[in-house]
Amino acid sequence: MSEKIMKRITVKIGTRVLTDKNNRIDQNVLGDIAGQIADIMDSGTEVILVSSGAVGSGLGILGLDKNAISLSAMQAAASIGQNYLMNSYNEHFSKRKYVTGQMLLTQEDLTDRKRFLNIKYTLNTLLKHKALPVINENDSVSTDEIKCGDNDRLSSLVADLADSDILIILTDVEGLYDENGKVVKVVQEINENVRSLCRGKGSTESTGGMITKLDAAQNVVKSGIQCVIASGRKKNVLKDICSGRDIGTKFVPLERTLKARKRWIAFSLKAKGAIIVDEGAEKALIDGRKSLLPIGIKDVKGIFSEGDVVEISSASGTIIARGLSNYSSDEVVKIKGKKTNVIEKELGYKDYDEVVHRDNLVIVEEE
Ligand code: GLU
Repeated sequence: MSEKIMKRITVKIGTRVLTDKNNRIDQNVLGDIAGQIADIMDSGTEVILVSSGAVGSGLGILGLDKNAISLSAMQAAASIGQNYLMNSYNEHFSKRKYVTGQMLLTQEDLTDRKRFLNIKYTLNTLLKHKALPVINENDSVSTDEIKCGDNDRLSSLVADLADSDILIILTDVEGLYDENGKVVKVVQEINENVRSLCRGKGSTESTGGMITKLDAAQNVVKSGIQCVIASGRKKNVLKDICSGRDIGTKFVPLERTLKARKRWIAFSLKAKGAIIVDEGAEKALIDGRKSLLPIGIKDVKGIFSEGDVVEISSASGTIIARGLSNYSSDEVVKIKGKKTNVIEKELGYKDYDEVVHRDNLVIVEEE
């Protein structure tokens, strides 16, 4: 891809790129990356930055070891580290006359459709004003239930919602390595062979290893967005990628098949439970493109409320679809295997015939 058609890029930087061996922000590295981003912005390309490093640098400042502290201490570290991180970005970007806008997100912000769209509007407005959005998970309030998970995933959701041309994930390795330790230059399809190349998790300060990066790459390529995983410490890495040089591992985008709302259901939301369906329902969903009715439901797993995302699985356990449930898990238990005309009798009311309506359902193969 040449520089000319890069209208908007999302860059994710990992903790290990940004911090030194004492868990402090490495100002040389951060300054160098900021300089490259400013050059790219000067050329007219819009940049969105997803930056890790809050927890890691906060731990460094407090002199704490991640393995030895409580969740609340980690959240306190995040609140301190995030502040230092933004100060550092501001210092470097102000030298280039750019301002930054901080956005701290949780999974709940992405799950709520209104908040999700608001994130999009705010991002667009920041970019319109030539500011640099700097995004991170809101670690000082996030607990497991409301966590996006990791910044690789977060960056893929941001790249998609912002309609970026590319997601560049900067890490401390050169890309994805093959069995012989050579960097894989291009990945056409993220299949089991590719996944088997993943090594173990990253350092203790960063939550993502190569697996979460592949998941992120998979999310964006399905949305028609290219992804590159490369070393954040390589000279001119961002500028070179933007000018079309082959750096790191490139993931070729697929043709985008899902509309924005269905992509939101497929990628942004976290499933709260699962509905197991019989063969008839499986066929009706996949081949017939039908909605899910109570009659085809065999079992329910997990606890979910009306409007939550559920996975729809076959009896053998394969996930076949994801969708928004019209009924809570307790209600689905009461109506499973039954005809739609008994829903009202069972529940005392009936708002919908379908447990998951076709409009709110994405078949996994379609993703
Ligand atoms: N949000 C975390 C931080 O800023 C990083 C999470 C991650 O690297 O995946 O420290």
